[in-house]
Amino acid sequence: MRVLLIGAGPAGTRCAERLAERGAQVVLAGAEPALPYDRIALGRVLSGEVEVPALITHDAARLRGLGIRFLAATRIAAIDRAAGTATTARGETLAWDRAVFATGSDAVRLRLPGVDLPGVLLYRSIADVQAMRRMAAGGARAVVIGGGLLGLEAAAALSVAGARVTVVHALGWPMERQLDPAAGALLARQLGASRRLRFVMPAATEAIEGDHHVRALRLADGTRIACDLVVMAVGIRPSVVLAREAGLEVNRGIVVDDAMRTNDQRILAIGECAEHRGQVCGLVAPALAMAETAAATLLGEDRAYAARPDTAALKVSGIAVWSAGEIGPPDAEAVTLSDEEAGLYRRLWLRDGRLVGALLYGDTADAPFYLDLMASGRPVAPFRARLAFGSAFAEAA
Ligand SMILES: Cc1cc2nc3c(=O)[nH]c(=O)nc-3n(C[C@H](O)[C@H](O)[C@H](O)COP(=O)(O)OP(=O)(O)OC[C@H]3O[C@@H](n4cnc5c(N)ncnc54)[C@H](O)[C@@H]3O)c2cc1C
Repeated sequence: MRVLLIGAGPAGTRCAERLAERGAQVVLAGAEPALPYDRIALGRVLSGEVEVPALITHDAARLRGLGIRFLAATRIAAIDRAAGTATTARGETLAWDRAVFATGSDAVRLRLPGVDLPGVLLYRSIADVQAMRRMAAGGARAVVIGGGLLGLEAAAALSVAGARVTVVHALGWPMERQLDPAAGALLARQLGASRRLRFVMPAATEAIEGDHHVRALRLADGTRIACDLVVMAVGIRPSVVLAREAGLEVNRGIVVDDAMRTNDQRILAIGECAEHRGQVCGLVAPALAMAETAAATLLGEDRAYAARPDTAALKVSGIAVWSAGEIGPPDAEAVTLSDEEAGLYRRLWLRDGRLVGALLYGDTADAPFYLDLMASGRPVAPFRARLAFGSAFAEAA
């Protein structure tokens, strides 16, 4: 069986590995020039903590040992389902019996005036962080648009790399999808103190100004923030153009069933480009779980992918913040534990006697406990009074 993996991110690479281990003939085609690497560790390259080679997860020898034919800098430009072939951007033809889309996501580029100026960057790939690092050295002024997980991570790393960083965020507090206003305020204060980040929020961006290079970001209220570099971290979008052009069913992502099959039984989709039961993912754990399921499906095993609640942790050293499930749903009861002096804050959301969301700030050691409660749907009534104090207290009850 010849399997073509389209995309060599974590999902595509994991699936290729599992198939090759079992004797399938695997071609892994990746648009990026690099060997498969750990995307989630890009911030460490940006801050200067490690260099690019430290991120490579599968070097040439390992891929060869697995028997995977790896094609770097190879973008698949078209799929001919009837012929069972793919055409690369360079015009080569690859034949397949089964194909797996693992094309991931693209970072969103806001359509602002000036967005094409040199000095406007995204935060997604090795090429992006290399460009940022070149510009961040020497005390450059950087503006990061977007105070979500990735924006904050980029901002903190840029600051370590020597830039003076302003975060411009549309909402009134950072990470609004993962944090409530109280935890968001704690986070902004701590990032200001420990990483010298300046926050401008809530703020609407209107234009990027400059001539041959970025000079300033202009906000809707007329404020100008002078800068040498703008990083857009405003979200991701599943990369689905190729699949749509191939005639596959695409909604927000490429629609798959529990076995990761698309509407064409010979074609599967995994990772951030896939849409499973109406959901697309934006984290590596579900992407890898889908890769395992797809490999099993192709090997003729019966396995179903089951989504777990999304969890989010900010990767900025010295800052412990974690959340999972539903944050601030209007129809849930909230339990709050707050010790502002100690920098500790915890909020849990319950519906019908079950935990549906959790937010931990300052101490995240109990994260697995709350995640298990959410995933299992275990009733919390027997230990509700002690629930906010964590597993040691709740389970003792
Ligand atoms: C800076 C950063 C930090 C992150 N930190 C975390 C974290 O802490 N925890 C977490 O869970 N997640 C994190 N994420 C998200 C995580 O990286 C993704 O969930 C994960 O990479 C998804 O894997 P994937 O294989 O589905 O897609 P991707 O990693 O996007 O890989 C898809 C690959 O396919 C390639 N491709 C696209 N189209 C084609 C084509 N037509 N032909 C060939 N190749 C193609 C792309 O170039 C890309 O290399 C982070 C992401 C970034 C950018």
